[in-house]
Amino acid sequence: MSARIIDGKTISADLRGKVTDAVHRLRRDRGIVPGLAVVLVGNNPASRVYVRNKSKAVTEAGLRSFDQHMPEDVSEAELLDLIARLNADAQVNGILIQLPLPPQINADKIIAAIDPDKDVDGFHPLNAGRLASGLPGLVPCTPLGCVRLAKTVHASLAGLEAVVIGRSNIVGKPVAQLLLAENATVTIAHSKTLDLPAVCARADLLVAALGRPEMVLGAWIKPGATVIDVGINRIAGEHGRPRIVGDVAHAEARGIAGAITPVPGGVGPMTIACLLLNTLIAACMQNGLPAPKI
Ligand code: NDP
Repeated sequence: MSARIIDGKTISADLRGKVTDAVHRLRRDRGIVPGLAVVLVGNNPASRVYVRNKSKAVTEAGLRSFDQHMPEDVSEAELLDLIARLNADAQVNGILIQLPLPPQINADKIIAAIDPDKDVDGFHPLNAGRLASGLPGLVPCTPLGCVRLAKTVHASLAGLEAVVIGRSNIVGKPVAQLLLAENATVTIAHSKTLDLPAVCARADLLVAALGRPEMVLGAWIKPGATVIDVGINRIAGEHGRPRIVGDVAHAEARGIAGAITPVPGGVGPMTIACLLLNTLIAACMQNGLPAPKI
């Protein structure tokens, strides 16, 4: 039997529509227009595409976009100065620094300089701590998107055996924290995990965020499991044309899983939708309003 495809494009379009409606109400009823500043440093082609897509989505949702483009050779002091200005600007409710940053910049220092209430990427150590402590705060967009996708399959994640492959601060760890908050029984696997296939085989819900093209094989997956494939890997396809694949061998996994996200068209579009949601939540928080229930 072929798995149900968890269609990230449709699910994210629905979320974006809801955010757009909430932004419209906020503007109509309170005169507040949430604003997002995306900071791009240098000319990394992939980063430029991501930033362009984010800006388009921001404008379409009725948010204000305050994009900032700094040269590749910008100094750390100049970038810190820009962040201080964005922190102080009341029209800017969210700040996102497009990663990676060039080698002369300490990314940890830059992230820590963002006002935690404007940290729509949820990477600031205070927000990471809030998530780990079960306190309200801004949550990283990709992990939030993963959990929202899983919840389109399972009304409740409580009691599910969840395995997250990957323990990065931007995907693996926050996904695991969110799943724990949903009362799943969570295992985090990583490059030192012994017998990864056996660990994966326990999972009712498998989240693959390891950055290894198609490494998770169909035979590792528990029949009927839900698989969320976070990976975005560019490999050489037919006639040398690049092809994007996930961390899961999708074609074979599809014959065994109960539900699975495609790559592209799964987690990726949810990340942008969750960024819009986070900017809306940040604007509400900064204006003393409750976060919208979307
Ligand atoms: P990182 O490289 O920061 O982390 C990868 C994690 O996977 C590490 O914890 C590493 O373990 C683990 N890992 C690597 N190799 C293996 C292995 N052979 N077996 C088991 N575990 C392994 O990557 P990110 O977390 O930033 O991203 C993961 C993937 O998600 C990438 O493909 C990335 O492109 C994609 N991504 C997609 C997004 C989206 O919007 N869809 C957004 C962000 C990322 P260890 O800690 O031991 O080194």
